[in-house]
Amino acid sequence: MKIICIGRNYVDHIRELNNEQTEEPVIFIKPDSAVLPKEQDFYIPEFSKEVHYELEVIVKINKVGKHIQEKFASTYYDEISLGIDFTARDLQSSLKKKGLPWEKAKGFDGSAVIGEWINKESVEDLKHINFTLLKNGQSVQEGNTKYMLWNINSIIAYVSKFFMLKKGDIIFTGTPAGVGKIAVNDYLIGILEGNELLKVKIK
Ligand code: ZN
Repeated sequence: MKIICIGRNYVDHIRELNNEQTEEPVIFIKPDSAVLPKEQDFYIPEFSKEVHYELEVIVKINKVGKHIQEKFASTYYDEISLGIDFTARDLQSSLKKKGLPWEKAKGFDGSAVIGEWINKESVEDLKHINFTLLKNGQSVQEGNTKYMLWNINSIIAYVSKFFMLKKGDIIFTGTPAGVGKIAVNDYLIGILEGNELLKVKIK
């Protein structure tokens, strides 16, 4: 199983990090060891002083696919949820400055928090999904999939040109603005259209 993540998919988030908008989606991969086991707390790794949360809508691939056409992409997933793409921002910034790959900053153990899966049919309109991250009860990120530069189906089509998608693979579709640092004892809750799908304690 692999985790494919999309970067720079919301303009407001591209601006907050002073990144440039790209002509094609930015893709990176987290290994399966990045998945935070269910019900476990997230421990801030000792190699970073600035781990950021990024709340994202995620989808789970339901069958093998390669070179998937966008018009058929919706048949490649049934379930959606929320995920957190934990990012060691200090490490990422220094790697980016040197033009080096981000893997250490994005793919470390526990850096992928996966929420509870729900059937996509239970969501009224996949192109208008509201999602929110609460940190210690306060809303810190509010997103809507209508602001994505590349929607879920176009992401599946694009990614499958490079990487064969397999059953159980997970796609993280990018984060809206509001990313920020976590601290010990923070409690994060991700809400998708009123459903609390994700909870994680920071240690
Ligand atoms: Zn992300």
